[in-house]
Amino acid sequence: MNWYTESWSDECKFSIAYDEKIYSEKTPFQQIDFYKGKEFGTFFTLDGLMMVNEKDEFIYHEMIVHPAFATNPNIKRVLIIGGGDGGTAREVLRYKSVEEVVMVEIDERVFRLCQKYLPVTAGGIEEEPRMTLKFEDGLAYVKKAPDASFDLILVDSTDPISVGEGLFTIEFYQECYRVLRNDGILINQHESPYFTEYAENMKRAHKKIKHIFPITHVYQYHMPTYPSGHWLFGFASKVYDPLLDLHAEDWKKFKIQTKYYNTELHRGAFCLPNYVREALVDG
Ligand code: SAM
Repeated sequence: MNWYTESWSDECKFSIAYDEKIYSEKTPFQQIDFYKGKEFGTFFTLDGLMMVNEKDEFIYHEMIVHPAFATNPNIKRVLIIGGGDGGTAREVLRYKSVEEVVMVEIDERVFRLCQKYLPVTAGGIEEEPRMTLKFEDGLAYVKKAPDASFDLILVDSTDPISVGEGLFTIEFYQECYRVLRNDGILINQHESPYFTEYAENMKRAHKKIKHIFPITHVYQYHMPTYPSGHWLFGFASKVYDPLLDLHAEDWKKFKIQTKYYNTELHRGAFCLPNYVREALVDG
């Protein structure tokens, strides 16, 4: 049996059996590897870290998108930073009320390879008329984007190392604040509270976002193939509180069939364990 293994900490590793390594490529940005196995289907890694697999991708992609729409059901213009596998765009495009989605992915090869090997996330995205694809750095893109031009920014990034580093800076969050409309929402990949390295990333990101946005929250979800299985998104807004402003009945009218997200879970996701709350306060 072949095993894909990644380190979750210096003393903890996670392995998945695979039948075949389908493809490998080193791009100017990162090492991309695609595998196929029985438990998780096709999956790909960037620089040796799990990104997306056919089995649990719905959890991540539903949770990055739907809480914002249940808070503000009138979102029309959406900016996705990263997200080259297409899964986040797929979920956003399920809202017929959305008029335009701009996806800014630094590495075109991630998107092209996902079109070929992971059609469950990338299939049909390029053909969708409401979609604009840009292959450039997300920080550079937001710096030149006009003021108040988006209702929602979704930061679907890798960890804050290498190419993803700029997406975890004060400068980036400031630009997001400027580019968002007055009732805009920012959701960002917020790492994990459990293993030290990820918890430090979580604390640093939260501290910076708190400096910029008046309303900030962190919410959790269960992601079996990410380190510790316990992952977070950040929610930041100029006016909306994801609990006080939850529009559960309006969201249900969209009639979007989800496998993970529902509006009861929405409330629960923002209730954090004590050790996470404390880390975020201290951070
Ligand atoms: N769900 C995943 C996770 O949390 O592990 C994220 C997957 S998605 C593939 C992350 C994408 O962010 C990658 O394709 C990467 O190329 C892209 N990315 C990283 N840094 C970026 C940047 N500065 N600008 C735009 N895209 C970036």
